[in-house]
Amino acid sequence: MGQVKKQELTEANVKQFKKYTPPLIILIVFEAVAVILWQTKDNLFYLFNFSYIGLSVSLGIFLFIREYKHARRIVQLLVGLYMLVYLGLICRENMQIEGFWYYLFSGVFEAATIHYAVAKIFGPLVFGRGWCGYACWTAMVLDFLPYKVPEQPGKKIGWIRYVTFVASLLFMSALFLAKVANMERIMFRAFIIGNVAYYAAGIALAFAFKDNRAFCKYICPVTVFLKPMSYFSLIRVKCDKDRCVNCGKCRRVCPMDVDVTDNSRNRKNGTECILCMECVKNCPKDAL
Ligand code: SF4
Ligand code: SF4
Ligand code: SF4
Repeated sequence: MGQVKKQELTEANVKQFKKYTPPLIILIVFEAVAVILWQTKDNLFYLFNFSYIGLSVSLGIFLFIREYKHARRIVQLLVGLYMLVYLGLICRENMQIEGFWYYLFSGVFEAATIHYAVAKIFGPLVFGRGWCGYACWTAMVLDFLPYKVPEQPGKKIGWIRYVTFVASLLFMSALFLAKVANMERIMFRAFIIGNVAYYAAGIALAFAFKDNRAFCKYICPVTVFLKPMSYFSLIRVKCDKDRCVNCGKCRRVCPMDVDVTDNSRNRKNGTECILCMECVKNCPKDAL
């Protein structure tokens, strides 16, 4: 009898351990990036930066597993405010797309280029658009607005993102070709003006289209990187067809209009998925 109880206890412990493996893996991955960059760049900042982000994301996943309903918002605020206030306003690092072009044209692998490589270009091959769901400081504010689920069908104006993408590229190319002085100061001003413009456009669009994420769907230039890379994402929400009863609840609660019941990579709006897990939380049959 005692033996059976002992075995049951061991099985329960293994199950508990397995349940908490994802936050542990995330923490280890971020810690590995932190240590590699700290050592290769000989800069202690990278150890602090990636350890902090890794801890924040792991905490969010841990809280999600514990079914805490504000888990995602906590990560968004922890990472988003850190990047906007500490890195952007206090350290004066332009982590927007203009900052990426700036460091790229300067030929240095620092700040915004590292950030883009990890969060927006190569990272999405593993964690898709997790950046958009858990860390972006623009969406951190937009997600507080009232239209958490779009009240109107999507518009066919996604081409605007290519215009904003090319505009940012041309703007930075012009500054470089003109060999403008005081680039650091210009980059800081561009960061402030860019953020004010993003928030103003994001809030206006959210109310105009009754959709908090309208800015993400139609305007954000970063999606030019995020969408194609996240197409190949390792982490995806999948549907267990044997359990699904086609009730449509997952599609109704999705902020990005993704048809998550289709398991193919070509699913409708597949590259829009921000891994917010609203569909998973709301599926009555635990099919996702
Ligand atoms: S689409 Fe752009 S604005 Fe929206 S969450 Fe992603 S990076 Fe942020
Ligand atoms: S909510 Fe669940 S059961 Fe309903 S359609 Fe979606 S996956 Fe299927
Ligand atoms: S609700 Fe599901 S399909 Fe829609 S964005 Fe969130 S995780 Fe992706």
